[in-house]
Amino acid sequence: MQRSPIRRSDYTPRDKKGLEGVIELQFAVVSDYLHVGSGKYDVEIMKSVSDVRQLVDEYLKGNKIPNVAQYFSRVAFLMVKEKDRVVIPGSTIKGMVRSRLELSVPGSCYIVTGQATSSSATYKRIFNPDPNRGSDRFDVDKFPQVCPVCDLLGNTGLASRVSFSDFVMTSGKVDYFNVMGRDYEVATKGSIFTGRVVYKSLNSVELGMLLYGFGFIRDCSSSKVMLLGRFKFADRKFGRVRFSLKTSPTECNKYISDFVKQFNPRNINEEW
Ligand SMILES: [Zn+2]
Repeated sequence: MQRSPIRRSDYTPRDKKGLEGVIELQFAVVSDYLHVGSGKYDVEIMKSVSDVRQLVDEYLKGNKIPNVAQYFSRVAFLMVKEKDRVVIPGSTIKGMVRSRLELSVPGSCYIVTGQATSSSATYKRIFNPDPNRGSDRFDVDKFPQVCPVCDLLGNTGLASRVSFSDFVMTSGKVDYFNVMGRDYEVATKGSIFTGRVVYKSLNSVELGMLLYGFGFIRDCSSSKVMLLGRFKFADRKFGRVRFSLKTSPTECNKYISDFVKQFNPRNINEEW
């Protein structure tokens, strides 16, 4: 197990001149299912609102309504929707990237990892977190020093230099999967989600760190398998995705190798 003190330096001014741009990414679901929950356990109305209003009117008039069931989905733990399309919130993607960097980059503090609710044996076996690692609390006057990951992705009172969009399902299929008597809405194998990150004021090593956090551990061609969403530590049929770049920064591979050279990150195999 890797135990090292948190490595801190003065935070980078957020308006510093540096590399800036947009990276378009996509990921494919490579396991049978992916579920990222919205927190809602509910039915979805499958027909348009006017149809439903008509249905209610008919009902109030005492008329028989054919096939009411067709208006509703099953009761299920739903995924997040944006204009009828399934999305993975940007905050979820950021949490994924951040937790990987916290666990891979020597000397980073644990913001996401420290509060991880997963106490599963599988989680511990894969990620092997340092049980004694703390999380930095940034204060511009009293504690202006932060770890490399907080410097990149922010801390309370310190803005992130990277912003993460929602990832929208652009092709694939939504289905239901029953776990312990309850249905979960899932995206099935081969589904594709597309999103982007916007970054500014980075140096080449930090851009490499960002890419590494998405699982591009050697080069920019394709990421390693990343675990995402529910049941990823409980069932191999769930939660495995692989990222690829739709647009990549110039010298993409060099950024990654520069980062790897400078930080010697821990390579974590998530394919348990
Ligand atoms: Zn930190």
